[in-house]
Amino acid sequence: MKFGGTSVATVERIERVARHVIAARKDGYKVVVNLSAMAGETDRLVGLTEMAGRGDVSRTADYDAVVSTGEQVTAGLLAIILRRQGIPARSFAGWQVPLVTDDTHGSAEIIDIDATAFETSFERGEVAVVAGFQGVTADGRVTTLGRGGSDTTAVAFAAAINAARCDIYTDVDGVYTTDPRIVPDARRLDRISFEEMLEMASQGAKVLQTRSVGLAMNHGVQVRVLSSLCEPGEKAACTIIVDEDDIMERRVVSAVVPSRAEAKISLLGVPNIPGRSAIIFAALADGKVNIDMIVQSQARTGEAANLSFTLKEGDVARALAVLAEYKDEIGFSDIVADQNVSKVSIIGVGMNDHSGVAAKMFKTLGDRSINIQNISTSEIKISVLIPSEYTELAVRALHDAFSLGEVR
Ligand code: ADP
Ligand code: ASP
Ligand code: MG
Repeated sequence: MKFGGTSVATVERIERVARHVIAARKDGYKVVVNLSAMAGETDRLVGLTEMAGRGDVSRTADYDAVVSTGEQVTAGLLAIILRRQGIPARSFAGWQVPLVTDDTHGSAEIIDIDATAFETSFERGEVAVVAGFQGVTADGRVTTLGRGGSDTTAVAFAAAINAARCDIYTDVDGVYTTDPRIVPDARRLDRISFEEMLEMASQGAKVLQTRSVGLAMNHGVQVRVLSSLCEPGEKAACTIIVDEDDIMERRVVSAVVPSRAEAKISLLGVPNIPGRSAIIFAALADGKVNIDMIVQSQARTGEAANLSFTLKEGDVARALAVLAEYKDEIGFSDIVADQNVSKVSIIGVGMNDHSGVAAKMFKTLGDRSINIQNISTSEIKISVLIPSEYTELAVRALHDAFSLGEVR
């Protein structure tokens, strides 16, 4: 059972988490509980590291030492509350399990989990309460797994103990056709395929961290998303993530996903000769900048090209610094960064054998005078880059155009 930040935001909420855990035990389950920090706490801790470091220090071990502390507080508090109610429980920090990761501080990858500690807890009849989001390197430094990472630790623990299920409790009762905070008539999906969930997460839907979905898919972990904000047994609604074959009806479009944290960098007047793009993207990769959409357009004379790509807003400063360093080698004449862009994606497994989906998407946006700056597609996704001020309008219009609010 994993409980997110809003589910553990106060001691009262953690008491409700305890009731969910006790109910699961009554149903006969042995439970590993994986917790996030209280809502807002990780942001606060990140802010402190930026003040101390006069900037972004998220790739250092000491950043991880600071930001991992929020989860230890909630894990300890839940164990205290459970024991007060006569339920044997013990709290674990990531390193006490241990959950071993590589040393990519700020976004470490899981290497191994020793599940013996959980087996010992189970033998003693204890609930194991683990701080999410954190691990430890082989040489003993604390790491964190990237924002939203307790989804990933939860799925990893479920895989390690061969759990019947991994229940992700959050502040919504499942995965919706779009963010219910933007579109009030968004509809909860009873089931969604791993493939669609993976695209949704990677295109920016918060609910689950992308890596947690990939991990669940690879290890066959059954994942459910449900709400912790009700009492146990009160409301059984949830979304189950399943194999594509287990969905009877292949929806053409299942969800609309907005992502505001996008930016676009354009390089103008790049010499149109073989190998230039390789230099540009190798430099960006060295600077650990993740690139999303890429568009290259050739000037009519054929001498120079313009190249633009999108990236996360938070990476813009780093990308500009890297490109400035390589300016002579790349040979561009001008560089422009635009942070005022959003990405809106539509996702659905049925889209690869249906025609006209892109046309309908572009017409819907065109009818509202929303200008599309970039387009990218995969088999089950179409994404467009648009000016940020149109994000909500675009999401509502697309949700409507593909009739996602209607029960089918
Ligand atoms: P937690 O703190 O529990 O990890 P998150 O904030 O990471 O929770 O994720 C839950 C939030 O994700 C919801 O409050 C909701 O606003 C947002 N969200 C975005 N897109 C969707 C969607 N398609 N379905 C459900 N929730 C979504
Ligand atoms: N507390 C961490 C974060 O805010 C991890 C998580 O909540 O999943 O990113
Ligand atoms: Mg989350």
